[in-house]
Amino acid sequence: MGANRPDEGSSVSDQQPKIGGLRQQLDEVDSGIVGLIARRSRIIADIARAKEHSSKAVQDPDRERQVLAAVEATATELGVSASLVRRIFRELIGDSVAQQARHLTGEGAVRHRVAFQGSAHAYSDAAARKYLAGLGAEGDLTGYGTFREAIDALLAGAADLAVLPIENTTAGSINQVYALLRERDLFIVGEETWKVDHCLAAVQDVPLNSLTRILSHPQGLEQCAQFLQSLPGAVPTSYFDTAGAMAAVAASGDPRVAAIGSPEAADAYGLVVLRHGIADTEDNYTRFVVLSGAAAPVDVRIACKTSLILVTRHEEGALLRCLEILSGSGHSLTKLESRPRPGRPWEYLFFIDFEGNVAEPRTAAALDELKAAAQYIKVLGSYPAKALRHSPQPGSLPDTAAESPADVLEAVVADEPSAVRRSRQYRLVDRSARPADTVVTVGNLLVGGDSFVVMAGPCSVENADQITSTARFVRDQGAHVLRGGVFKPRTSPYAFQGLGWEGLELLVRAGHETGLPVITEVMAVEQVQRMAKEADILQIGARNMQNFDLLREVGKLDRPVLLKRGLSSTIEEWLAAAEYIVAQGNQQVILCERGIRTFESATRNTLDLSAVVVVRERSHLPVIVDPSHGTGRRGYVAPMAWAARAAGAHGLLIEVHPAPEKALSDADQSLSFGEFAALMARLAAVPGP
Ligand code: PEP
Ligand code: MN
Repeated sequence: MGANRPDEGSSVSDQQPKIGGLRQQLDEVDSGIVGLIARRSRIIADIARAKEHSSKAVQDPDRERQVLAAVEATATELGVSASLVRRIFRELIGDSVAQQARHLTGEGAVRHRVAFQGSAHAYSDAAARKYLAGLGAEGDLTGYGTFREAIDALLAGAADLAVLPIENTTAGSINQVYALLRERDLFIVGEETWKVDHCLAAVQDVPLNSLTRILSHPQGLEQCAQFLQSLPGAVPTSYFDTAGAMAAVAASGDPRVAAIGSPEAADAYGLVVLRHGIADTEDNYTRFVVLSGAAAPVDVRIACKTSLILVTRHEEGALLRCLEILSGSGHSLTKLESRPRPGRPWEYLFFIDFEGNVAEPRTAAALDELKAAAQYIKVLGSYPAKALRHSPQPGSLPDTAAESPADVLEAVVADEPSAVRRSRQYRLVDRSARPADTVVTVGNLLVGGDSFVVMAGPCSVENADQITSTARFVRDQGAHVLRGGVFKPRTSPYAFQGLGWEGLELLVRAGHETGLPVITEVMAVEQVQRMAKEADILQIGARNMQNFDLLREVGKLDRPVLLKRGLSSTIEEWLAAAEYIVAQGNQQVILCERGIRTFESATRNTLDLSAVVVVRERSHLPVIVDPSHGTGRRGYVAPMAWAARAAGAHGLLIEVHPAPEKALSDADQSLSFGEFAALMARLAAVPGP
């Protein structure tokens, strides 16, 4: 690299012996440097062993500052660039921290299969190698055409990790990667930074003004815009990635074409670097996230960052309140990014990075508090931080830790008389975690608080006519949500099981046509993702109230969930089931009382209206009533609906059918159009919540 230009003098042959001697000296110095690095690393290993049984954090920012100041002072004294020395020592210190962390985690010997986007020697490839080197691990790296393909490979088990760029200090955030974090079941287990050092390279050493074309990734071209302007004869040409551009130049053999990319890629493809450091800004870094299909807990002595996705409640100052929870508990924010919320115009998701580790009680407590304040949270993971700004360290808590919000919360809980604090089975859904009523939003519709919603429609979707005519009728009578089962939990395997996905299509179409959001039951974990794309509210049926895998799965969604009370479940069990959903991050839970099994046989179930008042006292979640399943007899439905409203329910779930006697399921309890109209007419006269 850095070969002399042909026009810079030709009679260099007489200087060869002298240069040979100097190069030999240089080689000796270089191997001396490597020897010193090895010695440094052995001392670090001793330090790691000495720290093994201490609770002290691996990283010591004060000590790092001292080391950097000392080496910079020495550099200045010796007349070498202080910034060069600082850069080298930052790398060395970073490596020492990684080495000590490795000692704690016992990481190293394993071989990782790593997916990245781009071709060999792309920046992502380099960052992935740097990450593995930091772990002291080996790896098999595979480049994929797109970010999505890299993630597909990871989730299909073809890779153990994926390394994707998430932001660049010049070009900003990489939206597609944020979208994947939102959509897919991914965990961030690490991060890496890479200093992007663009160079211009060609097949041979040619004058810059002889170039006619310059290839690079659009970002590479953009980041070197000023340099390119100085070469008006060369046409900038977009290429799918920087390393690919280098490869193309090498393959073409054309000396008039050059590529912008990393010096490493130029080297790998046997190109000559014509100019180093051509980016407009010198400090150009890309941050990469290391992704896995499973979360990986990290030792609390290692400085960590935690990343999450947050949807705030629809209240004034909601975001501020969430940020205060973090700052008030000593977690400093390193990044806040807002993205549009898909399917919800003018609503936003927030991506938040802060310094902290979910394995630490104070961070876990802050997350609990955040859950209570937010509408939806997806914790993407806690991982060793590479790009740390400053100092609050895990393991060395400030004395004020005793007053963290978690402790304050615990203290409040402990102070409560035992008669009020009933259960240890749930915390987040408990009224004490959130004194205000939770209001779940379904588009423009509010469920909870002072509002009263009516969800109506057939037990099962049977055909297009049946669902469309019912949708129109219930909408005209003032219903707010269209119900219709498509996967039916039936007592007998010979009974009508529902139309499945075909039924969902009919339901969604009827909803669109009438402008009503739709609710339908999800019965299995495998149905959840697909269902969430179409249905506005997902119903968990009575028989699945304690299907914990299913509860956890809907807990990962950013979609309202209606949780029915189990046939033989106590209110406490029901609230604990809701806790499963909320603990996963989804705070948008609506409870539904639908009757329980008692010795009474005059009705299909015994509608427990007292549950409404008990739940409203014990929890902040909205609760609605289903008098159809609660009584099982159409004649009893309207009076119990009115009673439910009077008792303080936030709404109703009612079965309506154009020809109830012909209904394929729950014929006895389905209301005719006339009966539903009569129910609605008198409902308004009952005082609501
Ligand atoms: C239903 O709503 O159609 C249903 C099956 O309800 P549950 O789960 O309450 O029996
Ligand atoms: Mn039913």
